[in-house]
Formats: sequence, structure tokens, C-alpha cells
Amino acid sequence: MRAVDIIIKKREGLELSKEELTFFIEGLSSGEIPDYQVSSWAMAVLLNGMTEQETTDLTLAMAASGETLDLSAIAPIVVDKHSTGGVGDKTTLVVAPIVSACGLPVGKMSGRGLGFSGGTLDKMESIPGYRVDLTQKEFMSQLKELNIVLTGQSADLAPADGKLYALRDVTGTVPSLPLIASSVMSKKIASGAHAIVLDVKLGNGAFMKNLHDAEQLANMMVAIGKLSGRKVRAVLSDMNQPLGEAVGNAIELREAIDTLNGHGPDDFKEHCLVIASHMLELGEKAENLEEARSIAESKLLDGSALEKFRTLIIAQGGDVSYVDSPEKLPRAEFQHAVVTETAGFVSQAHARTIGETAVDLGAGRARKTDPIDPSVGILVHVKVGDKVEEGETIFTILANDKKKIPPAEARLQSAVQIEKNPQEELPLFYDVIS
Ligand code: URA
Repeated sequence: MRAVDIIIKKREGLELSKEELTFFIEGLSSGEIPDYQVSSWAMAVLLNGMTEQETTDLTLAMAASGETLDLSAIAPIVVDKHSTGGVGDKTTLVVAPIVSACGLPVGKMSGRGLGFSGGTLDKMESIPGYRVDLTQKEFMSQLKELNIVLTGQSADLAPADGKLYALRDVTGTVPSLPLIASSVMSKKIASGAHAIVLDVKLGNGAFMKNLHDAEQLANMMVAIGKLSGRKVRAVLSDMNQPLGEAVGNAIELREAIDTLNGHGPDDFKEHCLVIASHMLELGEKAENLEEARSIAESKLLDGSALEKFRTLIIAQGGDVSYVDSPEKLPRAEFQHAVVTETAGFVSQAHARTIGETAVDLGAGRARKTDPIDPSVGILVHVKVGDKVEEGETIFTILANDKKKIPPAEARLQSAVQIEKNPQEELPLFYDVIS
């Protein structure tokens, strides 16, 4: 078999066999198939799609590209969550400690930023010393001892996804339904959780732009999960505007810490409680969603979720004084207020444009080896439906390079639309697929 023939077959829109997909994924993992051929194949998949059979075969080949964890010895049910990616999505930082504080083990392997969407690992690394490179042994023993782990994907688990993910980020091949489904589910299958809640985002700031595509992706991931014997539920949530106020790394971490302290933006807090409730119900800690929500709320209110977060930071080598005094987190040198020139009602706060502006400021990567700047980002002070007055601050730009402020301001002005008439708020959620 030759990689080039597999690329040509996909370019012609034909269905790849299980053997061809396994050959390609094995070659990609071993390095025998070079990056340029993998990138070209990914573009052919993005343009021509894959059948359900191909997507399932691709996922299983990617999951089998490394080791698979067996978490049964730790607890009968370990839960995990995964977001398909969005702007301002710092949900894991709040939800993992809430659920763990409810007595359900959360073993989470997170990713880095991808395109305009942020990544949990980049946010966590704003805390000096915090390790995101736990070994499998460390992962297992911390999960057993503390009920919570939040680390990077170990190199031994679904290594094919690790390579492909980084390449897709810089070759314009992220928003492909089969590539996203196989990326998410191969990691989830390999990392061993028994119950998985998928937060499938839809809207201009997500990789799936509309409800139809998001439902298709959700159905596919739920079906693949079932095939591998996992309990999977997909929650479809809005990503037309950023979640919460903060878009960046250290500022998102601050917002998460604020939320764990009982404050934080309402939309973000509500989002976290709903996702936590689904995890608790799926993980059999509650009979139904109402009961799950009341348990989750109590752990947030009584400070035990915050305490869990502190425990997590200490266990993974982070300096916990940054959690206790978040003002110590990295701060950008310049703060610039963006004001609206018109009064009225906000009809759009375009998540994707805001996310891309944050990347331009240095919060994300243009090339896979680029470093990120933890201190820069954007505070978004408006939500769709809000009434604003002329001259009101709608964004705060946090920058370290003064030259980047004017273009960022212009982009942010174009991200917001204001109408004379009252505008409906956007929903937080659209659907649940089990
Ligand atoms: N999240 C993932 O893990 N993979 C993708 O491809 C997109 C979002």
C-alpha cells in the first residue's frame, strides 16, 4: 500500500477501507508517512467527507495507535467531559472540581488551543509549576487518591490524534465532521472513562456552524462511544457569542476561579451547572437531572469545589497561591477600552471574530510551535440582547504589544452589531442526544 494512493482515492471522493485507514494511521504515528502527505489527506477528507463506516474505522484505528487505559480498578464509573471547542470555554476548570467534589472520579485529558478556540492546557499553564505532562502511572494513582486529574493527553494514548490535531490546526483542516468525531472519540476511548459528556458547540465560534451539523456530529460520536461500550451523552450548546466574559488564558483561569468562589458571569455558571448535572446523572450519582443539579450547586456554594480545585493544583505541582490570590496571575501591560458609538440593543457579539482577535493578540497559535502569551486577551462586556448606551465600554483589550491594539479594536468593532429594537437573548443549549 502507498500513502499517495490513499490520498488520491480520498481526493476522488471514494470510500477508504478499514485496512487503508489502519495503514495510514499507523504510518502517520510511526512517522513513515510525512506531515505533507498527512496534511494533504486531511484536506481531502475535509473536502470530500467520510461515510459512517470510515469514521468509525478511523476512530478505532486512532484509538489503537497507542495504549488504552483501563480505569475499572479505580472506580466502577469514571466520568469525563469533552468540548468540541469554542471561544471563552473554560468549563472544564469549574465542572471537573464540582463533579469530583460530589464523589465521582473525573479523569480528564485536555488539549491545547486549536485555531480560534482556546485550550484548557494553555489556560492551566498560567499557574507556575502546574504540570500537564503526567505519566500514565501518575494519572492512575492521582485519580485513585484524589478523584481528580486534569492533564494533557499522554504521548502513549491515541498518539495519532496528537500528531493529526497539531497538523490540522495549521493547515485549515479543523472543521471536518469525521476528523473532529474521530479526534474526540479516539482520545476518549483510549483514556478509559466509562461515562462521557460531550459538549458539542454550534455557531459562528464553533467548528459546527448550525444545529443540523452539530446534531450529525453528536449522533456520530454517541454511536461510536456505544460501539466501544461507553455511556455517552451529547449536549448541544450555543457558541455564537463567547461563553462568559473572558477570552484568553490567564483571564479565563481567573474567571473560572471567580466562579468557583461563587461569583462569575451568569451564563458561564449556568453552563457549568448543566454540564456538571449531566455528568453526575450519567455517572449514577443522581437519579435525575434535578437531583444532580442540586448536588452540584451545593458543592459550588459550600466551597468544596474550590477546595477540590486547590487540591488538584497542589497535586500537579502548581503554586496554589495563584488560586488564592488570582491577581498574581500574569497581566498584560496595556488595557484598552473599546466603546460603542451607538446606543441600542446588541444583536451580535461574533464569537469567531473575537476568538481570532484574541489569537492575533497572542493568546493562540498561528504555527504549531508558536508560544502563547498567557496574559493577553479580551474581556467581552456585552451579550446578545443587552441594552447599551453610546460611549459604553463593550470590550477591554489586554495586550503586551501596543501596535496590536488598533487592529484589534477595529476587528472587535466589526464583531458587534447594535440595533434600535430590543433583541432576543441567545439560548445556552439546544438539544441533548443520548
Ligand atoms: N476537539 C478535539 O479534541 N478534536 C477536534 O478535532 C476538535 C475539537
